[in-house]
Amino acid sequence: MPDIPDIMLNNGQQIPQLGFGVFLIPPPLTEAAVAQALQAGYRHIDTAEMYGNEAEVGQAISKSGLSRGEVFVTTKLSNDAHRPDDARRAFDGSLKALGFDYVDLFLIHWPLPTRYDGDFVSTWGTLEEFYRDGRARSIGVSNFQPHHLRRIHTEGELTPAVNQIEINPYLTQDEVRGFCADHEIAVEGWSPLGRGSVLADPTVADIARRYGKTSAQVVLRWHIERGDVVFPKSVTPARIRENVDIFDFELTGEDVEAISALNRSQRTGPDPDTFAG
Ligand code: NAD
Repeated sequence: MPDIPDIMLNNGQQIPQLGFGVFLIPPPLTEAAVAQALQAGYRHIDTAEMYGNEAEVGQAISKSGLSRGEVFVTTKLSNDAHRPDDARRAFDGSLKALGFDYVDLFLIHWPLPTRYDGDFVSTWGTLEEFYRDGRARSIGVSNFQPHHLRRIHTEGELTPAVNQIEINPYLTQDEVRGFCADHEIAVEGWSPLGRGSVLADPTVADIARRYGKTSAQVVLRWHIERGDVVFPKSVTPARIRENVDIFDFELTGEDVEAISALNRSQRTGPDPDTFAG
């Protein structure tokens, strides 16, 4: 079994630094993919109400033979449910779909500053309720820019445990990561492989050859060495195993820097300041 390190969140909870993401895995394929991931040693699954596959994630975990406490599960609030009463209903719905009485981490999926009068602070207040009643062991945000985080920091009561943002070698996100480091917010990098777009990069491919590893393994290792949490997605069993087989080598500081230098500040996903869900 791979020796996946834990990261300690600002509330003392531990999160496995490598997990398995299920965005765009069709519901009929999700249970088998999550079962493969659990067999390969992943103990952290990242889903969302908007992915439409929470029920299948829950089924795979329930049937795995692992106890609930052995698997870290994240889900996220739908963009259509930011108003407090809607958020309460959505959270109940996510727990019901998963078949669990708690989640390890619940996130606001997008800040949506152009909707709901820009009031993501009330939405955050509702997540604080879920944290206090114990049904969300940790709460956090996703796709928040420093100026969004600053509002949560000054107007909210709790600091988010994590901020899940798009990160890959072409989008290193130094500014958001710097803000998070200064405020004890753990960073999670979504689409860590840039949805496959960074794997043909010649610098990455050269480094991979030197270590006798694949480009995907080198990119994932780069994230791990920068201290971020990642959850690559695949439905191919061999790739699911490949992506977790990254704890038997370390990149030199020079190689980490060479990969970071590929930054082009190029998003594959939407801009959080304008995205309206
Ligand atoms: P990813 O960067 O993990 O790339 C996945 C794609 O890369 C796969 O579909 C496959 O084509 C390819 N791939 C995977 N492993 C490979 C390997 N070993 N070799 C070659 N190609 C390989 O992209 P993703 O799925 O978009 O992101 C991962 C997870 O991040 C998602 O499943 C989801 O959980 C999360 N996410 C969150 C948000 C958000 O807004 N919070 C947005 C997107 C994704």
